[in-house]
Amino acid sequence: MHSPDCISYPPVYTDTALADFKEPAPAQSEETYGPWSPGTPSRQAYDLDFEDHVKAPGHHIAEILDDYPTILLQSDLVHPCLLEPQIIRMTGLLSEWSPDLSLQRAVYSGVAKKDGQDIEVAVKFVASIEEAKMEVANYGHLEALQGTVIPRLYGMLFGYEKNSDEEVACLVLERFGSKLRLDFHQMDMVSRGEALNRLVDIHRAGFSHCDFARRNVVTKDGQYRIVDLADVTPHEGVCQWTFDFVENAGRVLPYSEQRALRGVCPIIFAAASEALYWSAGRLVLGGMYGVEAAPSLPKSHEVYQVPDVVIGLDDSYHYKESEKRDIAIKIYEEFKKQLDKYPMEHVIHFKNWTSYEVHRKWHAERNISFAPRLVPDEDGQWIHVGVRGFREREAALNLQYLSLEPNFDLSPYSIIQA
Ligand SMILES: [Zn+2]
Repeated sequence: MHSPDCISYPPVYTDTALADFKEPAPAQSEETYGPWSPGTPSRQAYDLDFEDHVKAPGHHIAEILDDYPTILLQSDLVHPCLLEPQIIRMTGLLSEWSPDLSLQRAVYSGVAKKDGQDIEVAVKFVASIEEAKMEVANYGHLEALQGTVIPRLYGMLFGYEKNSDEEVACLVLERFGSKLRLDFHQMDMVSRGEALNRLVDIHRAGFSHCDFARRNVVTKDGQYRIVDLADVTPHEGVCQWTFDFVENAGRVLPYSEQRALRGVCPIIFAAASEALYWSAGRLVLGGMYGVEAAPSLPKSHEVYQVPDVVIGLDDSYHYKESEKRDIAIKIYEEFKKQLDKYPMEHVIHFKNWTSYEVHRKWHAERNISFAPRLVPDEDGQWIHVGVRGFREREAALNLQYLSLEPNFDLSPYSIIQA
């Protein structure tokens, strides 16, 4: 856990900009002055201007702050802010909005001035003053990684809730890129490797992040940074991890090698497990059928990008598990052929057609009747037809245009034209 030292960690800023402040801080100790207390005059005042700029669903959770929509915040004298006093224009909510989102968990985006230039910032509100200081201390411990592995920290600001002496605190950080669009297991291995290597950087600096998750990774132009340092703790012993997640991204690791890596640093190993990094050699088709990776099948992350693939379409036929597995492999082999020619969006768009046609061919080859209650419509969405309606529906869909010859090559475009 956090040591008490974290709270009184000395100012982390060594930036020469601090020297520009006209009046030096009075030589009052934290004991007599307090880290920040009501009524303490501060020469560094900042306004967060929310007016008209922030379009967030629901109400603006910053409304609980005194003087909303233009909120006066102040830095304290122990943790001076690297930005000159100014109005920070707030532009949006970076946290995913939900009805129970509280201000203390909200992260806003904003535009601030630094050395005359506009910079994008993330303003992260924190549950308590103490937690804010602990996170600031963690940014201080990892100062050498700011701007490459973790965001830059510009400062910590304090204010009040409306009609209350309840203090609030926020961290003003560099805004880097955006959150991950895909889940880890849907990202290609090199991208996952880049994110995991940043975690390794933190370990090499002597700390554990302790909350490595998709929500705490941001990306821009193929680079990845790790955010939310609230749970950072000193690493137990010196981390001996040397395995490079990017260099090894193309390899299927034997189990013995995986086991050895787990022994090197169980925390990094677990994070990589969370990202399904170790299971690249194993595919789960249709969310259910585990098979070995093969050149005839899509890669692991591609398999996970195609949602809701129906296997065992005709519910009037009782498929054995081995038959479903067989059909699953055939469907994903078709996906792979399509991926060789078309982008993933097309494969996803036509996935139901592909499933339908593979089932149809599979039934035909075995002389098993085929009368599913689900048929893809012109947009590729399943529509429910009764057994009786099926023939009619099939005729209407011009399914005869779908190739029935052996080794058919399902082209989405020919289906559209059909
Ligand atoms: Zn480690």
